[in-house]
Amino acid sequence: KESGARKFQRQHMDPDSNPSNNSTYCNQMMRRRKMTEGRCKPVNTFVHEPLVDVQAICLQGNITCKNGHSNCHKSSSSMHITECRLTNGSRYPNCAYHTNQKEKQIIVACEGNPYVPVHFDASV
Ligand code: 5GP
Repeated sequence: KESGARKFQRQHMDPDSNPSNNSTYCNQMMRRRKMTEGRCKPVNTFVHEPLVDVQAICLQGNITCKNGHSNCHKSSSSMHITECRLTNGSRYPNCAYHTNQKEKQIIVACEGNPYVPVHFDASV
């Protein structure tokens, strides 16, 4: 079975690309990373920074997650991210996304030993 750490990497890590003005980025990536199977995942963020830098967030500022758990961490630096958001008229199985690039601090939940990101909570 896919571990939480691996799932985080599949859903949220894309260190080697910078989508720049590619409006089809989210349409391609949401499908390629298997978030359009069974349903269209409504909102998903990809992080364009080295994995080690994202893993290091687990050692940075500890905060409460949206679900009330206490294992969230906010990156001390802003990061290059792309937010994918399902378009209004989009209907499964034709998942169509808006692609929005941002530079923001991100909040991830971390678990395990090693203590690594397993959930993307928000960008701020
Ligand atoms: P909305 O703007 O639709 O009310 O809520 C979207 C929320 O989802 C925002 O708070 C945003 O920070 C958060 N979000 C962005 N990317 C992801 C993601 O990949 N996974 C999860 N669970 N939430 C995300």
